[in-house]
Amino acid sequence: MNAPLIKRPFDVEALRAEFPILSRQVHGRPLVYLDNAASAQKPEAVIEAMASAMRGSYANVHRGLHTLANETTESFEAARASVMRFINAPSPECIVFTKGGTQAINIVAAGVDVQPGDEIVLSVMEHHSNIVPWHFLRERKGAVLRWLDIDDDGGIDLAALDALIGPRTKLVAMTHMSNVLGARTPAAEIASLAHAKGVKVLLDGCQAAVHGRVDVQAVDADFYAFTGHKLYGPTGIGVLYGKRDLLAAMPPFEGGGEMIDLVERERVTYNEPPHRFEAGTPPIIEAIGLGAAIAWYESQDRAAIEAHEAALRDRAMAALRAINWVTLHGAAPDKGAIVAFSVDGAHPHDVAQILDRQGVAVRAGHHCAQPLMQRLGVTATARASFACYNRLDDVDAFIEALHKARKLLS
Ligand SMILES: *Cc1c(COP(=O)(O)O)cnc(C)c1O
Repeated sequence: MNAPLIKRPFDVEALRAEFPILSRQVHGRPLVYLDNAASAQKPEAVIEAMASAMRGSYANVHRGLHTLANETTESFEAARASVMRFINAPSPECIVFTKGGTQAINIVAAGVDVQPGDEIVLSVMEHHSNIVPWHFLRERKGAVLRWLDIDDDGGIDLAALDALIGPRTKLVAMTHMSNVLGARTPAAEIASLAHAKGVKVLLDGCQAAVHGRVDVQAVDADFYAFTGHKLYGPTGIGVLYGKRDLLAAMPPFEGGGEMIDLVERERVTYNEPPHRFEAGTPPIIEAIGLGAAIAWYESQDRAAIEAHEAALRDRAMAALRAINWVTLHGAAPDKGAIVAFSVDGAHPHDVAQILDRQGVAVRAGHHCAQPLMQRLGVTATARASFACYNRLDDVDAFIEALHKARKLLS
């Protein structure tokens, strides 16, 4: 299961052919899907892995004394091993399957021991998934949120971060890549600053895991969260990586089957990680799908994909820069292929709707990042976000559609 395949040379047309949905039309136009930062499409390999598990080898996992239970457990644990290799985690016990990136962060937030006045440090460009769980700690336990500002491109000032980390800091919770600006954060430097003061770091890698390589040991992350559905895998599955000793010291998140060691009338003891955090029947088929997505992605020429995504980003940025009625948000040179922009005098929702009429799917809104919107001085933006299967032509179709939208809206 999930054996590494032979690497295929990058060919965007061949790669597109593996994604059934990309051949459909929208409003009579070929689909130009530029909403990948919200969710990516799925290759046949993922669809097939999930369907064939359900067709041919399916039962509940663990504790099984029959063949199907054993086969399914093997596939499920093989997916965990694939995730482990993908982010270079030291062992499978460090990999907790969750229902998404959001739940991964909530598990950590529920497990941090916070006294009134203890502080959580986070940046103003976090996704709500990496904000609201900390607000819960503020509301329920008296935690104090300390906000790190950014520059206009999403750059962070490490000296400012250092100054925010004090004796009451419990955790630094930081994105590894902004889902709006595409900005990457210097994860290793952030971790080393925090660790110098004995503070743990959680990285939100929901975007970084898609647009680059993740090595949790190289950056020395204490916790790392990411999600399956943006990584060409299914919904309903995410990952929490945690250092083994930290997970082992953390209380469980949910109670139920599989996460226990012993249950008596007056006493309960808990299983070891990762099972402690996987109460109930886990998302078995989804985990198998994520394993297949990772195997599929790793079978590609990833260096070529990275170069291709950089070319898509650069083409989109250059085209948008050349338009004097467009404002770009975030122009870090090494950013991920995520391009947020505003059209003068037009609401982003109207822009997105007119683009949709031309077959071009972009997202418009606050992108689950309202503090960032406030920092940028806007209430919403439009956003085009790219995946490995987008063509350079898709950028041109998007720009052409944008010119039409401008005509209709002015
Ligand atoms: C999408 C996203 C999340 C949330 O992931 P879900 O899978 O929707 O739970 C968190 N952080 C970032 C940066 C994201 O892009």
